[in-house]
Amino acid sequence: MIQLHRPTISYLICCTPFILCAITLLSVHAATGQDQDEKTPQSDRVLLPEIQRDWTEAGEQGRKIHGTLTRINPHNVLIRLPNVDKEKIVKKSQLSKLDLAYLEILPSVHSDSEQYSQTESIWGSMHSGTFPSVDQVREYQVRFPKSPYGLLLSGIATACTSPDYELAESYFEKAHKAISTREKILPDLMPATLVTCWNNYAIVLWRQGKGNLAVRLLNEASSIGPKPAEFLIHNAKIIMSENENRVEKYQVPKKMYPVLEELAQKPYERAATQLRSGVMYFSLNVDSPPPLNVLDELLRLHFDGEETVTERYTLDPVFANLMQSKNCAYEPWCTTCDGKGVFRCPNRCNRGVIAVPIQTLEARGIRGEPVYGTRFVDKRCDVCNGKGVGDKCNKCSGTGRTNAR
Ligand SMILES: [Zn+2]
Ligand SMILES: [Zn+2]
Repeated sequence: MIQLHRPTISYLICCTPFILCAITLLSVHAATGQDQDEKTPQSDRVLLPEIQRDWTEAGEQGRKIHGTLTRINPHNVLIRLPNVDKEKIVKKSQLSKLDLAYLEILPSVHSDSEQYSQTESIWGSMHSGTFPSVDQVREYQVRFPKSPYGLLLSGIATACTSPDYELAESYFEKAHKAISTREKILPDLMPATLVTCWNNYAIVLWRQGKGNLAVRLLNEASSIGPKPAEFLIHNAKIIMSENENRVEKYQVPKKMYPVLEELAQKPYERAATQLRSGVMYFSLNVDSPPPLNVLDELLRLHFDGEETVTERYTLDPVFANLMQSKNCAYEPWCTTCDGKGVFRCPNRCNRGVIAVPIQTLEARGIRGEPVYGTRFVDKRCDVCNGKGVGDKCNKCSGTGRTNAR
């Protein structure tokens, strides 16, 4: 099991300003106990952590109140004030941009951290080659459906236990969206997890012939941190060599090819053990989001335009260590037939069915002459006798598996 420590951010904790301002400075309304017009569905409620902070008013004066967030509604928040046993409703429109960013990211980071700690042992056991089934990881996804760790696990579990790249893609796509949404608010929130997501997503895309996005994602992943991890460059090189043997439709588009070439040439952080040639590597490296009590300070630094987080990962060896990790899995499915054990029907039919054009009488002209149109009807494919598949794959003898494992 690898150590998944966060970089040193303890320095951030000690400099949080503790300004207790008069609560009357910000126009607040006494809570009525129930928020009549903005009911939040029970399922969307996240149990918020107990964190006291300063809330700043939007505008030049920037007056503050100090208190604990107890509830987030669509248009306002409930803040419990210390020393007074009362909750106040504060309109979101009165809060500063930083406060709004905090409100937006806090529930995500909170549930991500929970999901991370719940799945930590699974990530650990995958490093030693034990892959969970899709069913086993589903429960984590159900508890926090929008957190990326469960989605990433489902993607890896799917791709490693069945050659259903399309299903795996859907998990990675959702994880990618989840991480991107958070990173837009606070960049470099979980850099190792992001690299892992992009890399693994790229592999399943490439296996389905989606070279354009696959290369773009690998390239973006290679730009995070001081140097890209070796597996990213290794995977890019495999795409390059496989690309030559693909039919044009499934090749990397010509516009994207120079990006791929440049990527394959990039200097990289060498993996701890030698990567096997010709086999793509999934990444199993994830980092947890930062602790909730430093979130405020990270946001403040980001709002001040300081790229501290990037700096942290440049100076701190943690990210590099994660990326160097030998703990990557190689794909188990035959790359010639994409794990299907058979080739596609050479007629390129749609699961044994082809569409044939027929001429139909559409209407009659002014003198009664026929006006014809073309319609397509389904017909059984003669090449594969409606089976939708061609010959048995000769590379894997029809097993669909690679013998690289
Ligand atoms: Zn095969
Ligand atoms: Zn066919």
